[in-house]
Amino acid sequence: MAREYLKSLELFEDSLYLPPTVKKTRRKHVLPGSLEPLPKNLETFERSILNCANCPLGKSREHIVFGDGSPKARIVFVGEAPGAEEDKQGKPFVGAAGKLLNKLLEDVGFVREQDVYICNVLKCRPPGNRDPLPSEVETCSPYLMTQLSLINPDIIVCLGRHAAHALLGVDSAMKDLRGRVLPWQGMQVLVTYHPAYYLRNMGNVHFGEEDFRLLRTLYDGLA
Ligand code: SF4
Repeated sequence: MAREYLKSLELFEDSLYLPPTVKKTRRKHVLPGSLEPLPKNLETFERSILNCANCPLGKSREHIVFGDGSPKARIVFVGEAPGAEEDKQGKPFVGAAGKLLNKLLEDVGFVREQDVYICNVLKCRPPGNRDPLPSEVETCSPYLMTQLSLINPDIIVCLGRHAAHALLGVDSAMKDLRGRVLPWQGMQVLVTYHPAYYLRNMGNVHFGEEDFRLLRTLYDGLA
């Protein structure tokens, strides 16, 4: 269990509830804001943006953090931006928050490498892990839209408010978004806290456990 994992880090608390079931949907189209023409596949797309310097983060990053996981995944996780460890390794969610994300996935029977794809709104690390700037989000978001068009998932999980705001174009508080499933472009978008939040607020990890059980229910309801 994720809470036992957090407990082992001396972070944690209690209480769970069972999520409601939600009807499945299926989409098949290129998302607005994607690059045109759409790249052939994720690999060629990744190669084509490895030297991107379209915003100032291109100068301060060590590596572009494009994304990781199955290109055929029916679930895509979207975080806000790479952190220090991700910038070093060029892979998303490889630090402490990534380990917690892996645990939350395992707890509901998913294997990260096989079942999901993980990326961020920004492909480069903001210095000092500051929040993404609106101009950076605007400049980089075509890359996210293009990834999503190529993967064509059924479910997107927004990890934290920056991801939810960037994808859904809302500015609601996380307390109003978290645990909700919203229809978006023919997909189901589930909003949950970023795993880094639970590392700072261990008593609230039950929210993550609830949301990941809801994710499992959504996935099991797909055709
Ligand atoms: S954050 Fe996005 S737009 Fe900015 S340099 Fe990196 S890849 Fe390019």
